[in-house]
Amino acid sequence: MISIKENADVIEMNRMTADDVIEMLKITGNHEMDMLFRKANEIRHQYSGNRVFLRGLIEYSNICSKNCYYCGIRENNKSVFRYKMSVTDVLEAVWFAVKNNLGSVVIQSGELTSSANTEEIRKLIKQIKSFSGNKLAITLSCGEQTEDTYIKWRDAGAERYLLRIETTDKKLFENIHPKNSHHSFEKRLEALNNLKKCGYQVGTGVMIGLPDQTVESLARDILFMRDFDIDMCGMGPYIEHNCTPLALNKSENLKLEERYNLALKMIAVLRIVMKDVNIASTTAFQAINNMGKINALDAGANVIMPNITECKYKSCYSLYNNKPGIENSREAELKTTLDLIYSASNVPGFNESGDSVHFLNKIHANIH
Ligand code: SAH
Ligand code: SF4
Repeated sequence: MISIKENADVIEMNRMTADDVIEMLKITGNHEMDMLFRKANEIRHQYSGNRVFLRGLIEYSNICSKNCYYCGIRENNKSVFRYKMSVTDVLEAVWFAVKNNLGSVVIQSGELTSSANTEEIRKLIKQIKSFSGNKLAITLSCGEQTEDTYIKWRDAGAERYLLRIETTDKKLFENIHPKNSHHSFEKRLEALNNLKKCGYQVGTGVMIGLPDQTVESLARDILFMRDFDIDMCGMGPYIEHNCTPLALNKSENLKLEERYNLALKMIAVLRIVMKDVNIASTTAFQAINNMGKINALDAGANVIMPNITECKYKSCYSLYNNKPGIENSREAELKTTLDLIYSASNVPGFNESGDSVHFLNKIHANIH
């Protein structure tokens, strides 16, 4: 078993092999896991300081044309009330973000590719930019789109894009999606490449604890993120949603607690492998454990996304069971977020757009 202390050199010099990554992901025992988290947290503080970047999360629409087997807002789930926020409602959330110095927002939604939808989001990006006096950076998470659409949205002002690969194991990817061209592993990869080509700060990530997912496969996910040279990462435990096909055999899945620990180890190991990227402490952690977001920060994450979507929409954006905080007002959600940041000996990055050091270094290297 790898000892974090003995392997400090390997960690510092970034010479980690797939076997090293697998070994770290296999660490068990509270003391050993704590050592791993502590090392990762130390690296995060060394490279990115103690600021936690804030992103106001706006769950813009739950209308989706896809049928991912794991997701509660898949098109075929007819028990969800479908919505798309009005421009006024989005700008109200944006105003809250500006007033509270959040520095950036994320627009997340189901995947729609019609030209009408492309145009609506393009206009929305422009409105958010002008309404906030160009104060807010914008991350989009609106699924796979054509290169042309990505260019339009970038030209309108969006800086970042989050598109999780979900798993880099093609076979596993095919197990958790319908087998058709609308859910293709190759297209997902191509979309990620296009995002990079278009000049976005690109984020990706995976779900952890999927049925039949192995530690070896998760290690390959980490190495994929390194080799793809991502700027940011959003990942978390997979959690069943009762109205989805993937939840049918849930008794065979890893226990929630095991998924939780594995997901925390994924954060820590990614931090050790990619020292200066932005890593989000995601809501799925909180859905399993009410210390979830704090634990993820303590394991090396440095970004947090208070949900600033109005309550009437939040409950309909139900990706998995037990989504936390659906009854919280924006004010309550922000207060909880700030409290947990302070309790983890960090400070909120007020008014910062929050580019990753990794991205800033790349820009710097290109200029010189
Ligand atoms: N439609 C876009 C963005 C919204 S979904 C897209 O798919 O990219 C955002 C993320 O939620 C997905 O990438 C997936 O990783 C995560 N997600 C969906 N269902 C989930 C579940 N049951 N458990 C955990 N995460 C889930
Ligand atoms: Fe749609 Fe995204 Fe859910 Fe897939 S994960 S069904 S694309 S919202």
